[in-house]
Amino acid sequence: MAELLGLRGVSKVYTRGLTHSHPTVALREISLTLKEDEPTILTVAGESGSGKTTLAMLLLGFISPTMGEILYKGRNITTLTGPERLAYRREVQAVFQDPFAVFNPFYTVDHLLSVPIKRFKLASTRAEARARMEEALNAVGLRPEDVLGRFPHQLSGGQRQRINVARALLLKPRLLIADEPVSMVDASLRATILETLRNLQRDYGVSIIYITHDLTTAYHIAKSIIVLYRGGVMEAGDVDRVIKSPQHPYTQLLVDSIPWPNLEQRWGEQSIMARESTAPPPGACPFMPRCPKAMPICASRPPLFQINPHQAAACYLHERQPQLVAEKLSELLPA
Ligand code: SF4
Repeated sequence: MAELLGLRGVSKVYTRGLTHSHPTVALREISLTLKEDEPTILTVAGESGSGKTTLAMLLLGFISPTMGEILYKGRNITTLTGPERLAYRREVQAVFQDPFAVFNPFYTVDHLLSVPIKRFKLASTRAEARARMEEALNAVGLRPEDVLGRFPHQLSGGQRQRINVARALLLKPRLLIADEPVSMVDASLRATILETLRNLQRDYGVSIIYITHDLTTAYHIAKSIIVLYRGGVMEAGDVDRVIKSPQHPYTQLLVDSIPWPNLEQRWGEQSIMARESTAPPPGACPFMPRCPKAMPICASRPPLFQINPHQAAACYLHERQPQLVAEKLSELLPA
C-alpha cells in the first residue's frame, strides 16, 4: 500500500555556539509510516521539551533532520523543488495553538481565506473563490453568513480556530499537523473543534497528526498514540490500550495526572516526581531520574518491547517481551 508519510530514523540535534558544543537531542531516531489509503488520526503526546513541536516543525519542512529522512509520497521532503515542493506545501497543512496569532486584526475573514486561494490558484473567478470559501466553512460547521465579512475581534476563539481549520481545508490537504489546536480555546468549545478534526479525517480522507500534552483530548480524537519523552518514544500503540493500561512509568505518570471524574480513583500520587526533570546519565533510560521503578539495568537505554499486538514500551520492566525494531512501530498503530 502506498505510503503518504514516512519517517526513517529521524533525529534532530541542536547545538550552541561556534564550536557546536552542548548538543541537545530534541528528537531521537523516530520511524513512522502513514499510509495513503488509510487516513488516520495519530496523537503525539508529551510534556514541553518532549520533542513534539520539533517533530511538527520537521514535518512541515521548517527545519531539517540532523539524521534520517522524511519522505512524502516516497520523496525526501528536503530535496523537493518546483511543482513537487508546491504540492507538498499545499497538501501538508498546519493548525497551530493560538487561533489569534494568525489573524491580522485589520482584515476580514474573507481576506484571510482568499490568500491561499490566490496563492495556489484554486479558483479562476470571484464566484468560484466564494463557493470554495463557503464549502470549507460549512465543512467545519460554520455558517458562511455568520463569519464572512467579519473581523477577528467579532468572532469567538472557537470560531477563529475553526476558520483556521477551514483555511487549511481549502487546500484539500492530505495531511494536517494540528499542534495543540485546542489548548488556548475555552473548554466548552474544545469538543466542537475536536469533532471538526475527526470529520475531516472521516469525510475528507485527511490524515491528522494531533500533537498535544493533554491525554484527555488524545483519548477522544485519536486511534493511535506515540508518547515522547526527551525526544524518544516511550510508549506507542492503540490509544485505548495505552491510556487505559499504560505500560511505561512515564505514561503512567501522565495518566495519573488526569483528573478523571471518579472519586474512588486516587490520582496525582506521583506528582512530586512528575514535576522534577533532571538530565539522565549519558546512555541511560531518559526517564531514569524521575522513575519510581528505576533499576541498575536502566543505566543503559532500553529498546522498545512489544507488550501485545497493539502496544510497545521502551522500558526494562517488559524485557521478557520481544524487542520491537523502530521501523516496525507503525505496524502496532491502528489506522
Ligand atoms: Fe524506569 Fe527503568 Fe523503565 Fe526507564 S527502563 S522507565 S528507568 S524502569
